[in-house]
Amino acid sequence: MTQPEQDDKTRIPSYGRASTLWPRTIELLDQLDLAEPLLQAGMITRSGLHFHEGRRVKGGLMYGSRMDKLGDTFFKFALHLRQRLTEEIITEAALRDYRFQPMILHQIESYTIDQNDDSYPVTVQIKDLRTEKMVQLRCKYLVGADGGKSTVRKLARISFDGERTKSRWIRMDALVKTDMPNPRYLNSIDSASHGQILWCPIDNGLTRIGYVFSGSLIEKYGGVEGVTQEVAMKEAKHALHPFKLEFLSVDWFTIYGIGQRIASTFCADGRIFLAGDAGHTHSSGSAQGLNTGVHDAVNLAWKLALRVRGLAKETVLHSYDTERRRVVQTVIDNDKVISTLISGHYPPQFQGRSEPTSYPLIRVIALSLLNMDTTDPSNATIEPGERGPDIYLTSLGTGDPLRLQKILSNRAKFSLVVFAGNPEYTRLALCDLGNAMTASDSFINVFPEHAFQWFTIPAASGNGGQEILGCRPFGKVYLDGDMKAHEMYGVDVQRGAIIVFRPDGWIGIVVPLTGAEQLRVYFDGILYRH
Ligand SMILES: Cc1cc2nc3c(=O)[nH]c(=O)nc-3n(C[C@H](O)[C@H](O)[C@H](O)COP(=O)(O)OP(=O)(O)OC[C@H]3O[C@@H](n4cnc5c(N)ncnc54)[C@H](O)[C@@H]3O)c2cc1C
Repeated sequence: MTQPEQDDKTRIPSYGRASTLWPRTIELLDQLDLAEPLLQAGMITRSGLHFHEGRRVKGGLMYGSRMDKLGDTFFKFALHLRQRLTEEIITEAALRDYRFQPMILHQIESYTIDQNDDSYPVTVQIKDLRTEKMVQLRCKYLVGADGGKSTVRKLARISFDGERTKSRWIRMDALVKTDMPNPRYLNSIDSASHGQILWCPIDNGLTRIGYVFSGSLIEKYGGVEGVTQEVAMKEAKHALHPFKLEFLSVDWFTIYGIGQRIASTFCADGRIFLAGDAGHTHSSGSAQGLNTGVHDAVNLAWKLALRVRGLAKETVLHSYDTERRRVVQTVIDNDKVISTLISGHYPPQFQGRSEPTSYPLIRVIALSLLNMDTTDPSNATIEPGERGPDIYLTSLGTGDPLRLQKILSNRAKFSLVVFAGNPEYTRLALCDLGNAMTASDSFINVFPEHAFQWFTIPAASGNGGQEILGCRPFGKVYLDGDMKAHEMYGVDVQRGAIIVFRPDGWIGIVVPLTGAEQLRVYFDGILYRH
């Protein structure tokens, strides 16, 4: 993968931007082995307090509160670090593990597509900003992950419709001293003058402080240009009153406008894709920008990987726009409400309320979970389109606990997980499944083997896969001796089931142990046969 990048970020003194990764994003990164280095560098919060006039009150940024109560994930926390560090860590891993080829100080200027060329139909014209010379790059697909002002989006003539509000917000990363209780929690404060204040501990002992810079404040300082770092520090102190705030140093600060926009399509000509801010922008009020960008990238990457390897049909790529648009539109709709509330105003649906504007946030956030719908029937209570919940299994022999999501790492392959149930009841069905798989027209012999990774999870304990099952296991065996995984996924231990996980961890299909034919139908819609 080659990535032209117009900036040399190592020369930018400092930038903060996104500072929060939410649990589902950390899960997705973990399945790519990227969560651990980010956790090493960042700061974790599990809880948040909300203050009004110096007293602790209910309400506020409730998405940060009591995250330990979250259900079936092991990432019951938010991870905070400056985007600069996130980018450095991910780039380092990409250079090491994925033959990533960055082209620093190279700017994309134009592209053409030759639809008659099946191999590398996209030709991209790139300017080397050091020499002013043009470089040509030929590729199969071009992903415009080039930010809100995306050149790729403009070249593809994709409209970017939406709204922009007059509000301005301040964000600053600083080393501070304060008398606020629990300052290393993800806190928020109602202020009469500066909207709802964000207080977020981040990496290296720094704190992200965010507040609203109203029209009258902008006027007071003679326009946005008059808002210097000193002004931002002074106003932050006013905003936090009656808590005291002392700045020891400031790493970064910005004042910026907010708005919500979405591209009319995330895909053009079957070859050009938009991801992240190039496809959609929203305020940072619910800290979703980088998170949704990661979700876009993970959703698109495995589909492109299967296409580039000649395994998947084109319809798989079409699903990128459908799946992501639904989620992003929900994020944008919620963001319009949240950013209005944070700015200290009621959106139309809450007009007439008298309590502080933070209270309705509780309800709105609950509506903004990223997920996909489905109405497909299933053989377990888990349904296609749901995220596969996480649970401990145990390894053979040592009995070490292993997380299911970690086992199903994202290698752009479908995971076929045989929830084998209790073999006392399911042995015959498992043996029949094994026999069905060996038939020449079985789906495993029809589709390329390297599109799959197999696992078998018996609801039993024992000293060997074959020994426990009474027949040859399907891929690696991990034990669910206490049946909790079967229970969580709603699989009857007397019947078992096969659950297909997409590479990005969403449930693709659930079939009974006798459902090899249904699997063939499912994959016929996705993959090419040999
Ligand atoms: C103050 C602030 C606070 C934020 N807080 C949060 C938060 O807490 N949580 C959160 O999730 N999000 C937050 N966001 C949003 C988040 O920073 C963005 O959503 C995220 O950076 C988008 O990533 P991206 O890769 O899509 O775009 P960008 O980060 O904008 O990256 C695009 C890259 O493309 C390059 N580029 C552009 N045009 C070209 C070209 N023609 N040729 C070559 N290269 C090009 C740019 O130099 C840039 O490096 C915040 C944003 C701001 C401004």
